[in-house]
Amino acid sequence: MSLKKILTIAGSDTSAGAGMQADLKTFQEYNTYGMVALTAVVAMDPETWGHDVTPLPIELLDKQIKTALSIGPDAIKTGMLGTEEIIERAAKAFEDSDAAFFVVDPVMVCKGEDEVLNPGNTDAMIKYLLPLATVVTPNLFEAGQLSGLGKLTTIEQMKEAAKIIHERGAKHVIIKGGKALESDEALDLYYDGETYTLLTTDKFQSSYNHGAGCTFAAATTANLALGKSPREAVIAAKGFVASAIKHGWKMNEFVGPVQHGAYNNVEKIEVTTKEV
Ligand code: ADP
Repeated sequence: MSLKKILTIAGSDTSAGAGMQADLKTFQEYNTYGMVALTAVVAMDPETWGHDVTPLPIELLDKQIKTALSIGPDAIKTGMLGTEEIIERAAKAFEDSDAAFFVVDPVMVCKGEDEVLNPGNTDAMIKYLLPLATVVTPNLFEAGQLSGLGKLTTIEQMKEAAKIIHERGAKHVIIKGGKALESDEALDLYYDGETYTLLTTDKFQSSYNHGAGCTFAAATTANLALGKSPREAVIAAKGFVASAIKHGWKMNEFVGPVQHGAYNNVEKIEVTTKEV
């Protein structure tokens, strides 16, 4: 059987737009077999949508990783890890596995919350995750943190940040200008150590985009597992997530998730690329 197996090490978003739920839905859209090692459970207060994050005991994460590795994932993705100890464990999981691809989504803030989950995590990501990453998928804020450059506002600064993150070990870097970069288009910058490529789609409604980042990284992982090159994988993932965002929907007065299946079921969005 040639079904590709993918492990996500991530948190649970009970509303299921982001987190491991977004990962599993996305893996399924690509007809890959998703598995989960859960790091934390996020529940929301129905009155305020304030996030309540409960980390799981580290021993429980260890057991899950052991189980999943025994099944033999072809690729591993990380999402919300939350503590330095878990970051180290995620890196070790990849090292202990036979997986060919390691996609690091360096989640630093939980959507709806402004503060960084834990500043020490950034250093741990740089130390443990970047040197192993096949692809790292920071948004503008995360790229500023991982590169040490702080706030990024231009393509030139994104290029600088991508270069530093690449020097820190990530083989392929995609910085999501996405919703944070001021532009009429949704721009992401890809760097493979040689060439900078700008990936562009139209910018769609942005109210119902919860889970976009997780979905993008999960789609990148699935495409890698299916044999695409990192460059082709991020281009495909961008088209996939653009469709998901365009067809995002209102869940309640606080949040609207992307529609994970929109690319396959509703509409395929074209991505244009340009060397910069
Ligand atoms: P994160 O959720 O990690 O902050 P983003 O939402 O910025 O990440 O980006 C995830 C992906 O979605 C990127 O490819 C980005 O370009 C794309 N994206 C974000 N907002 C929009 C939008 N309004 N229209 C189209 N694509 C978008």
